Amino acid sequence: MDKYQVLKQYFGYDKFREGQELLIDSILSGRDVLGIMPTGAGKSLCYQIPALMMEGITLVISPLISLMKDQVASLRQAGVSAAYLNSSLSSAQYFTALDNARAGRYPIIYVAPERLTTESFLDFAVHAKIAMVAVDEAHCVSQWGQDFRPSYLKIVDFIHRLPYRPVVSAFTATATQAVRDDVADILMLQDPTVLTTGFDRPNLYFAVYSLKDKYGAVRNYLDCHPGENGIIYCLTRKTVEEVCGRLQRDGYSATRYHAGLDDGERQKNQDDFIYDRKRIIVATNAFGMGIDKSDVRFVLHYNMPKNMESYYQEAGRAGRDGEPAECILYYGGQDVITNQLFIENNRDNEELDEAARQAVLERDRERLKKMTYYCFSNECLRDYILRYFGEYGDNYCGNCGNCLSQFETVDVTEYARGLIGCVGECRQRYGINVIIDTVRGANNAKIRQYRMNENSWYGCLSTVPAHRLRQVFNHLLVNDYLSLSSDEYTVVRLTERSGEVLDGSLSVLMKLAREREEEPKTKKKPARRAVGFGDVDEGLFERLRQLRSEIAKEERVPPYMVFSDKSLTHMCAARPQSKAEMMEISGVGEFKYKKYGERFLQAING
Ligand code: ADP
Ligand code: MG
Repeated sequence: MDKYQVLKQYFGYDKFREGQELLIDSILSGRDVLGIMPTGAGKSLCYQIPALMMEGITLVISPLISLMKDQVASLRQAGVSAAYLNSSLSSAQYFTALDNARAGRYPIIYVAPERLTTESFLDFAVHAKIAMVAVDEAHCVSQWGQDFRPSYLKIVDFIHRLPYRPVVSAFTATATQAVRDDVADILMLQDPTVLTTGFDRPNLYFAVYSLKDKYGAVRNYLDCHPGENGIIYCLTRKTVEEVCGRLQRDGYSATRYHAGLDDGERQKNQDDFIYDRKRIIVATNAFGMGIDKSDVRFVLHYNMPKNMESYYQEAGRAGRDGEPAECILYYGGQDVITNQLFIENNRDNEELDEAARQAVLERDRERLKKMTYYCFSNECLRDYILRYFGEYGDNYCGNCGNCLSQFETVDVTEYARGLIGCVGECRQRYGINVIIDTVRGANNAKIRQYRMNENSWYGCLSTVPAHRLRQVFNHLLVNDYLSLSSDEYTVVRLTERSGEVLDGSLSVLMKLAREREEEPKTKKKPARRAVGFGDVDEGLFERLRQLRSEIAKEERVPPYMVFSDKSLTHMCAARPQSKAEMMEISGVGEFKYKKYGERFLQAING
C-alpha cells in the first residue's frame, strides 16, 4: 500500500494536510524529522502512516497515560493493532503485551519514557527490529517548556543502546526557538527535516468580552449552544468550584477538574467529559495536555490566563476536527491582579540563581502585559495572536469578534498613493520606517541625512497615525502594490501594479479596525458561521449523534472515536446512499465502514 492508500483505508481521509506529506516522505526515506505544528494539525498521522508502511516496529514515546490510551483506542477503531506499555498495566498484562510485541503483533507501540531503559524493555528492544522512535510532545525534553519531563532525557540513552539507530521523529506544538533547538539537540536528531507549519487555526473563532456579569454571559452562551461540548477554564480552584457548582445548580451538565481533587475523581470527571456523559468541564489549566477529544466545540475562558502561550494552547483544544469552534475570553480587571500574584509568588524556579530568577520574573511580567493587550485590542484578534508567535497575517480575518464588529471598509487610496509616490521618488532606496516617517513629516536625523524632507511627498499624510500607515503598508505588500527586497538592507520596491494606484486608475479599499471610541460598545454575539459543508439538517445530525452514542457505549470508546463531528456533518450534507458513497465521507475508512457503515446508511436513508 502506498501512503495515500493507507490514509484512505485506515483513517478514511482523502487528502493530506499541510506538512504531513513532507514529514512522511522524509521518514520513509530514512531521515529524521522535527515537526512543529499547532494543536489539531494532525501530527499523529505523520508517524502512524510511516509506521504502517515500514518494516519493523515503531515506538511512540508519549508523556501521559491518558494520551497513550486515547491514541491506541483510536488506532484500534481504525483497524490497526497497537498497544501501550506503561504503569497502568499490571505486571502480568505488561509481560503479555511484551510477548505479543516480540511475536510481531504490533506495528505501533506506545511507551512511557520511564520504561525505555528498564531491563525487561531493553531486552525486548535490542532483539526486535525497531524501525522508528517517534517522540510525541517532544517539547517535554526542554527545560524551557512548560511541561518538562526529566524522563524524556532517557530517550537518547535508550536509542544509544539499540544495536543500530532507527529513524527518530519528533513532534511538538511549541513554537519558541529555544524549545525547538533543545528538541533537536537533546534528542540528537541527525540532519532532520524540520517543518514548521503556520500557527493559524482558521476554523477557530476568537472573541473577548469585558463584562460585569460573567456568569450570566457564560449561561447565555451555553443556552445559545445547546448540545455542544466545551471547556470552561478558570484561573483558580476556587473559581472552578464556584462556577461549576452554580452551573450544576442551574441544571447544566457540568463537571469539574483541578489539581486539588483526588486522582479518582479527576479521572472520573475527565472520562465523563470525554465520553460525552457530561457536556461541560470547568477546569484549571491542570486539565488539558492528555486530552485529544476532537469535538470540543468551544473553549470559554472565565478568566484571562497568564500569557498568550497558555491562552493559545488552551483555546486550541477547541475544534481539532477542523469544524468551526469558538474561543471566547471573558476578561475581568481582577484577572490581571491574580496573575500578578501568581507570577510574584512563583516557587517553580527556586533552584535558579537570583539573576536567572529575576530574568524569568521579568519575562513573565512582560508576557502578562501582552496577554492583557490582547484583551483590549481593537485589531483583528487572530492577527494579534499570529504576530505574537512571529507570523504575519493580513490585518483582517473576518472570523473574530473584532473583525465582525469593529471593522469597517475604508478607502485608503490617498494613503496608498502617498506611500507609493514616496517610494518612487526616492528611487526605491529606503526601508519601511523611512518611508512612513517621510510621509508623516517626521523631523529626525535620518530623514535629514537622507534629505527626505525634500521629497515632494514629505508630510503629505502628517495627520494619519503611524500604526494606520503600517497597516496600509502591509496591505499594499500583501496585494503586490509594493514589495520588499531581500538584500542586505530591506528596501521597499515598486511593482508592476504600483502605477495603477499612483495614476489614480484604481482605488484601494481595505478593512480596518475602527479607531477606539470613548464608550466601549457592547459586542454583539456573533452569528455562528457555517464553514465547510453548508447548512446541515439539524434533525438528522441529532439522529446520527444518537447512533454514534449507542455504538460508543457498545464499543466502550468515546463517541468522537467512532466518527468525528466532521464526519457526521459531512454525512448530513452528502447523504450517502451506498457503500461507495459512504466511503467518500471524510473519516470513513475500510475498517470503520465494515463495523458501522451499514448502520449509518440506514439511519440516513431509513
Ligand atoms: P495534533 O497531535 O497535531 O494535535 P492529531 O494528530 O490529534 O493532532 O489530529 C487532530 C485531528 O485531525 C484528528 O481527529 C485527526 O484524525 C484529524 N486529521 C489528521 N490528519 C488529517 C487529514 N489528512 N485529513 C483529515 N483529518 C485529519
Ligand atoms: Mg498530538
